[in-house]
Amino acid sequence: MKITKITTHVLSSKVEKPFTSSRGWLYKTRNTCLVEIETDSGLTGWGECYGPSAVAQAFIDTQLAPQVVGRDPFDVEVIWEHLYNRIKDYGQTGMAIAAISGIDIALWDIIGKDCGKPVHKLIGGAFRTEVEAYATGLYFIDMDRLTEEAVEEAREFVDQGFRAIKMKIGLGSIQRDYDRVKAVRDAVGPDIRLMVDANHAFSVPVAIRLGRKLEELDIDWFEEPISPEDIDGYVEVSRALDMAVAGGENDFTRWGFRDAIARKAMDIVQPDVCAAGGLTECKKIATLASAHGVECVPHAWGSAVGLSATLHFLAALPDQPPSLFPFPVMLEFEQTENPFRDDLVSQPILQDRGIVRVPDGPGLGIDVRRDIIEQYRVG
Ligand code: CA
Repeated sequence: MKITKITTHVLSSKVEKPFTSSRGWLYKTRNTCLVEIETDSGLTGWGECYGPSAVAQAFIDTQLAPQVVGRDPFDVEVIWEHLYNRIKDYGQTGMAIAAISGIDIALWDIIGKDCGKPVHKLIGGAFRTEVEAYATGLYFIDMDRLTEEAVEEAREFVDQGFRAIKMKIGLGSIQRDYDRVKAVRDAVGPDIRLMVDANHAFSVPVAIRLGRKLEELDIDWFEEPISPEDIDGYVEVSRALDMAVAGGENDFTRWGFRDAIARKAMDIVQPDVCAAGGLTECKKIATLASAHGVECVPHAWGSAVGLSATLHFLAALPDQPPSLFPFPVMLEFEQTENPFRDDLVSQPILQDRGIVRVPDGPGLGIDVRRDIIEQYRVG
C-alpha cells in the first residue's frame, strides 16, 4: 500500500458564550486542523493536530506531506523518525510536533482499517473496553458570577452522569480560588472526584500555599500549577503537596518529557496525542513514565478524531500500577461548546453515567462527516 495524497482541513466554529481560563485568552471560536491521508488501496485515514490550525496546516502542506507521499502507511514509526529528523533543526517542540501527530494518527487509522482491527488492538491491546470520563469545564464566563456559574455547571455535569469534574482556577487570590472550589465541592458532595487546573497561573510559593488549602477539599490532582518550563519549580510543588501534581499538556516528544519524568517533577504526565507526537510517540512517553513511577493520563481538547485517538491510547495503557482494584485511567472529556466533538462523526462519542466506550470498529472506529467539514471549512 502506498500513500497517494495528504489533505489538511482547517475548520472553525463560533462559540456562542465565549469563555476563558487563567490565561486570559478569550475563546471566541473553536478551531481544528484535520489530516486526511489517502492511499492507493482506497483506504483513507484521519488525524488531528492540536494548536493553531493554520500553523499545523502550513507545516504539513509545505514541509511534511512531500516526505510522506509514496510511502507505506505500515512504516508508521519509520515515517515518524524520518519526519522528526527532517524538522528537528527548527521544530523539536510545538507546532512542528503537533503536525507530525496528526499524520501519525491518520496512519494508525489506515493500518487499523487495512487489518480490520481497532487501533488499540495494534498498539498493545485492550486493557479495558470502556473508560471513566471526567468533565473538563468550569471556565470563566461571567466575571460577576464566577462562583455561581461554576456551581451551576458542576451540578449539570453531575445530572448528566459524570462522576468526575475538572475545574479551572487562577483568580489572582488564594482565598477567592479556595472559596470557589469549596462552593463546587459543597455543591457536588464528597462522592464526585474533583480536579483543579491553573493553566500555569501561579508562582511556586502561591501554588504551594493554595495547594495546601485545596487539599482539605479532597482534590484528585492539581494541574499545571506553574509554568511548564520550570522543572525545578515542579519538583518543589510536587514535594510540598500531598495531592498529585499534573502537567505536560504543552510538552512534546519523549525528549521533551524525559527530564520532568526522570526527576519525578510531577506525579501525572499529560501528553496530548494530537500534540506530543501522535500515538507512536505517546506510547513511548507512557513507557518512560511507567519506568519512573509516574502516571500517564493524557490531555485531550479536540474533535471526535482526537478524542477517539485518545480513547484507543487509553485502552492500551496498562493500569498504573496493576492491582485487583486499580485506580481507573481517565478520559479528559472537555465539555465546552464544540461542534467538532459533537457532530463531526456519524456516531458521536458519548458518555453514559460517566463512562465512555472505546470505539471497536476498524482503525479509529469513526466515520468522519464530509458535510460538517464543508460547513465549517476555513478558506
Ligand atoms: Ca489543562
